[in-house]
Amino acid sequence: MNKALFIHGARNVSVESHNLSEYNKQKVLLNIEAVGICGSDLHYFKDGGIGGAVIQTPFVPGHEFSGRLTDDVPHLDLEKGELVAVDPATPCHQCEWCEKGYHNLCPKVQFIGAPPFDGAMTQQLAVPHSGLIKLPDNITAEQAAMLEPLGVCVHAIDLAKPRLLESVAVIGCGGIGLGVIQLLRHIGTQHIVAVDPQKHRAQKALELGAGIAAESLSEAMSHNDGRGCDLVIEATNSPDGFLHAIQAAAIGGRIILIGIPDGDIYTPIEAAEARRRGLDIRFSRRMGNVYPRAIQLVSSGAIDVDALITHRFNLADSPKAMQMQADEAPGLIKSMILPNMG
Ligand SMILES: [Zn+2]
Ligand SMILES: [Zn+2]
Repeated sequence: MNKALFIHGARNVSVESHNLSEYNKQKVLLNIEAVGICGSDLHYFKDGGIGGAVIQTPFVPGHEFSGRLTDDVPHLDLEKGELVAVDPATPCHQCEWCEKGYHNLCPKVQFIGAPPFDGAMTQQLAVPHSGLIKLPDNITAEQAAMLEPLGVCVHAIDLAKPRLLESVAVIGCGGIGLGVIQLLRHIGTQHIVAVDPQKHRAQKALELGAGIAAESLSEAMSHNDGRGCDLVIEATNSPDGFLHAIQAAAIGGRIILIGIPDGDIYTPIEAAEARRRGLDIRFSRRMGNVYPRAIQLVSSGAIDVDALITHRFNLADSPKAMQMQADEAPGLIKSMILPNMG
């Protein structure tokens, strides 16, 4: 019997049997190999929703995943048993925003692991052919599951357009912040200031390429006489994340906001400061066409996604995994659920 992790509401989860979703000619059944826990999954776990997206019926989270095909998909040159990654987003391809190329902003998107569409914290899941992503042989199941969050980082860098010799602050050193730091280093950024209140995450930021890592913003900013940074990339779950991003920016600076703040309805910012300093503030939502680059970055060894994975759990222990991740257990960065592991 297929089992899955269900979220019933805030801090209310269980592992139960799960009927396979409707399974038609445009879909193929996957045996799920690895699923990462994302910050957005934790909002469903902690708050029972994100902003207006509230869980109505028991819901299976998980959108960062890989699996093995239970059947051939000849038109995509994929064979039964092959490991694939999956793009969780199926945009409508018909609306005004899709036509303009903003597939990541499509209001009619069907997104695996965002209510009401059940996600991949389950043993088997039927996924549309259009989402299947063929992989090179040297990518592991866990690396394949990391392509989605790495894609979020690539998209943020696309929006940020880092410039030569500028200073960059990365606020929040979870899986996304640490991925961003690695990408910045890969394109040659020298001056990276990382901020995270958890010591082990700040330490990891140093290992992965930050020049300065601090546990508070004021400590981080004291390193450049309070001038601030030319570019700020925010990737926290903190209600103060946007505020801190503004405080970290230099005059004329650019800010990219990736994080989803806890509570996610109203977030105060220092409007006067932001205006006086002429800040350019952009929100980053999911990702554009990033999978080919994410695959190349991992396959070539340029980006080390394994360095972000600190914990692994089977499906039976997935409620504990959510709990630990939500409570920011010491030493934890990214947890992987391995649903078909005993
Ligand atoms: Zn995610
Ligand atoms: Zn659309």
